[in-house]
Amino acid sequence: MLVLFDIDGTLLRTAGAGVNAMLACARELFPTHTFSFENIAISGRLDRLIWRDLMASATIEGTDDDHALFRARYEHHLENAFRAGARSIPLEGAAKLVDALSARPSGGVGLLTGNYEHTGRLKLTQAGFSLDRFSFNAWADDGWHRRELPPVALDRYRAHSSSAMDLNQVVVIGDTPLDIDCAHFNGCKAIAVATGVHPMDELHAHAPDLLVEDLSDWQAIAQWIGAQTAQ
Ligand SMILES: [Mg+2]
Repeated sequence: MLVLFDIDGTLLRTAGAGVNAMLACARELFPTHTFSFENIAISGRLDRLIWRDLMASATIEGTDDDHALFRARYEHHLENAFRAGARSIPLEGAAKLVDALSARPSGGVGLLTGNYEHTGRLKLTQAGFSLDRFSFNAWADDGWHRRELPPVALDRYRAHSSSAMDLNQVVVIGDTPLDIDCAHFNGCKAIAVATGVHPMDELHAHAPDLLVEDLSDWQAIAQWIGAQTAQ
């Protein structure tokens, strides 16, 4: 199995550092406009779509050049925030689950995330994760919507592995209904974890294949993934 982890709310929590850095960046680039996250859905969506909505909140139709500049400055602002003491906190059991899955003789581990690559890596490093654990990744740079991402990560796995792998051998672990949706849309398995903003009953309504309160019982989750392989 190829196991793909979401970042925010699944592996770690940043207490708004990302959103604050995006806002600071938008205000820096367009100082005469007023931006707001008030009516923007963040949970489970890709950063470039959130950028487009943030521009729209100030009635700006952002160009590709605007986006490139925003992205570069967002990286800078997030780096500064972490340097100034903002925290990226690993969630319980997450690193142990990643380590256990990485130690398997076959299969792979990667990321399936709405973060841009640079800022996603930054959040993980700050939280103490080893980036070399995540080999087959799909980022916000790879699409507009989460449903586009599982095939991207799988293609990257196939490019590096001689063993055959299909989307039904991919497991997506995430904290939002959109993580479950992108898994099932592509024929992948979905593990939902209630460490983000969505409680257990809300996630349950989206019928994940496995639902857990958190990743603290990482052995049981690794075992469940192993049992899928055997089917
Ligand atoms: Mg998330």
